[in-house]
Amino acid sequence: MADNLKRAAGRNAVELSPKPAVVDIIECFPLPIAVLDHTGEAVLVNKLFNQKYEQEILHSPTVRKTIHERGAGWKTLKIPYGVHDAVACRARTVDLPAGSMLIFDDAADEDVLRQLDQLQTQVSALRRLCSTDVLTGAWNRLHFEEVVAAEIERSVRHRQPVSLILFDIDHFKRINDTYGHQAGDSVLRELVSVTRKTIRSIDMLFRWGGEEFVVIAASTGYRGSAALAAKIREAIEAHRFQSVGPVTVSLGVAERIAPEPAETWFHRLDDALYRAKNSGRNRVWVERLGSSDIWAEESGPSVVRLIWQEAYECGEPTIDAQHLELFALANAALDASFKTAEPRAPFEAAIDKLLAHIVKHFADEEEILDARGYSDLAQHKAAHASLLAQADKLRAAVAADRTTTGELVQFLADKVIAQHLFAADRKFFSLFANQLAQVSKRD
Ligand code: GH3
Ligand code: MG
Ligand code: MG
Repeated sequence: MADNLKRAAGRNAVELSPKPAVVDIIECFPLPIAVLDHTGEAVLVNKLFNQKYEQEILHSPTVRKTIHERGAGWKTLKIPYGVHDAVACRARTVDLPAGSMLIFDDAADEDVLRQLDQLQTQVSALRRLCSTDVLTGAWNRLHFEEVVAAEIERSVRHRQPVSLILFDIDHFKRINDTYGHQAGDSVLRELVSVTRKTIRSIDMLFRWGGEEFVVIAASTGYRGSAALAAKIREAIEAHRFQSVGPVTVSLGVAERIAPEPAETWFHRLDDALYRAKNSGRNRVWVERLGSSDIWAEESGPSVVRLIWQEAYECGEPTIDAQHLELFALANAALDASFKTAEPRAPFEAAIDKLLAHIVKHFADEEEILDARGYSDLAQHKAAHASLLAQADKLRAAVAADRTTTGELVQFLADKVIAQHLFAADRKFFSLFANQLAQVSKRD
């Protein structure tokens, strides 16, 4: 009992220590600040906010919209003043673990800007603290919920698999009973350290609860994750834990099968762990199913695919939608080019569709850029014309059955994507930068 109390006190001390520091900074900050919970209710407003604004403004539609849209930088908004009037003010939003922080009034003063930087650093530290398990230093369950939602979205968007490895210490109760809770805690800490050394830096380790941990294996199907799980199992079995005997874990592996709900995926994962335990412990159980198999079958024999990246978005909806479509049609053409044994008609049809799209896209893009008064339009049009001439040559070669997949990849990956979309198009991205900030949900 005393042990438990000590552990609880220690935990609170670590968890709470940076909070008053941040609260103090907010209270005395030289700009008006309101901290809101996830429902939009104010949990803290500082002195300057109270001097300049009424708390009711936080419920006004324009402030709510600013919080909802987030996005980096200052935004101008009209807030209610008196019964009929409105005044313009500037505000920016900073994401918090369970809500957001609104900072009002643009800061011009260098000292204030420095303090704003300091505040953002403190908030980042707090965010990290709220996402971390105090005992082991692994990411906590709260952070898992956030990360797994983002990983699901990323997986679907890029058609890249994602897997979970859930593991649980075998007979951990015995370790606690034999060597005491503190020795048990040390085992948990050492186990996190051993696991971290075994996984790749992009694989994230979370404490799921008690003596259970989960690894999110990004861009990894069940085969790769099974191998990773085996490595974790071996590393833990081989590690000599201080002051306790051998420690082993049982592991369950499940790849997501899109579009299953997260709960179904976790249920399959739990089930895999249960089977690993029930079949003797100190082993890995893998459900040999996943989107990786389904997507591989759907995408045909092509081993070359163009992967869409968020960074290719310029913020202009028509251009972005057409670029995305360009990727889909290019991948369809690549798939068709690999089916060498079949008649060439589907390949020709795929190329025709792709080239027709490129022609339309170039014309639309030039019109949009012209309407925006793009200063380098003439140069950009010339680049389009040159690409279209190369596309015509490619089309003729396809008709004469002279194209190789290599030439197609060279044209699409090198000329269209790398040289044009990635280099030439980037020059006009700044025209739509504001549009991107408005639609962006990222900070
Ligand atoms: P199994 O092989 O079936 O997983 O057996 P087990 O003994 O590991 O499982 P059981 O669920 O019976 O016991 C889990 C134990 O983990 C009981 C609990 O007291 C202990 N535990 C949970 N969290 C902590 C912690 O933070 N520190 C310590 N020392 N022990 C913990
Ligand atoms: Mg256990
Ligand atoms: Mg358990």
